[in-house]
Amino acid sequence: MKYVLVTGGVVSGLGKGVTASSIGVVLKACGLRITSIKIDPYLNTDAGTMSPFEHGEVFVLDDGGEVDLDLGNYERFLDVTLTRNNNITTGKIYQSVLEKERRGDYLGKTVQVVPHITDAIKNWIESVAVIPVDGKEGPAEVCVIELGGTVGDIESMPFIEALRQLSFSVGQDNFCLVHVSLIPVLGVVGEQKTKPTQHSVRELRALGLTPHLLACRSAQPLLENTKEKLSQFCHVPAGNILNIHDVPNIWHVPLLLRNQNAHLSILKQLNLLDDAATPALQ
Ligand code: ADP
Repeated sequence: MKYVLVTGGVVSGLGKGVTASSIGVVLKACGLRITSIKIDPYLNTDAGTMSPFEHGEVFVLDDGGEVDLDLGNYERFLDVTLTRNNNITTGKIYQSVLEKERRGDYLGKTVQVVPHITDAIKNWIESVAVIPVDGKEGPAEVCVIELGGTVGDIESMPFIEALRQLSFSVGQDNFCLVHVSLIPVLGVVGEQKTKPTQHSVRELRALGLTPHLLACRSAQPLLENTKEKLSQFCHVPAGNILNIHDVPNIWHVPLLLRNQNAHLSILKQLNLLDDAATPALQ
C-alpha cells in the first residue's frame, strides 16, 4: 500500500479536502486504484452532532455513517463508496482505546497517548486502507489521507506522530507528503508572501515529517521568484511546488494539478513512474 498524506498549514479552510480529492483524480487517471481516509482531530465521535453553521454540512454515507463533507468530495471525485471507518476522529480512536482498557487488553500497563493512541491510529489507517471501495476485488494501490486542521494544533499532535511512525515503517518509496499552504498578498506591498509557508514547513519538519510537494493556495498564480524562494527555504524542489490558485469551481483543481504534472511528481516519489499507464495525461 502506498500513502499520500495531505496536511495543511497557516490557516484552516485552505482547500485540503479539494486538493486531496483532486490528487486522487489525477492518480486514478494514471490507472491506479485509490481509496481515501479523512482524519478529523476533534473529540466528537462523528460529524452528526455538530452544528452545520460551525462545521458545514454533514455527509451521510451508504452505511449510515455521518461524516465530514470532504468524504462526499472523495466519493464524487473518485467514484468510490466509502465506509464510516474511512473517517477517523479523535473521539473514535479514544473510544476504541478506552473500550480495550476496560476489557483488560492492556492489563498491567499504563495506557498512554504514545504508544497506545498512536498505535490505534496506525492500525486503524492500515486496516481501513486495504478495504476495497471501488467495487473491485482486493485493496487499492494508493490511499490518500487528509489530516484535518492545521499543523501545529495541539489536537492533531497524536495523528502527526502516528503518521510520522507510519511513514518510517512503510518506507520512503511508499509515502508522499503534500503540504497545502497559503501564499497571501499584502495590499500595501503587493508581494506574494512566503514566510507563513516557511514557518509551517519548519513546524512540520520539527515534528519529523518532510513535505515532498507543496500545494500553494493563492488568489493569483504564483510568480516565478515566489516559487524559487519557496523551493530554497522550504527544501522542496521547484518542480514539486504546485500552485492551486482560486478557480471559479473546484472541478478545475484536478486540471490545475494535471497541467503542473503533479501526478508525475507524486508517482516519482512513490516509485510508481514506470508502472503508470498514462503518465502524460490528456
Ligand atoms: P479544508 O479541507 O482545508 O478545510 P476544503 O477543501 O473543505 O478545505 O475547502 C474549503 C472551501 O474552499 C470549499 O468551499 C471549497 O469549495 C473552496 N476551495 C477549495 N479550493 C479552492 C480553489 N482552488 N478555488 C476556489 N475555491 C476553493
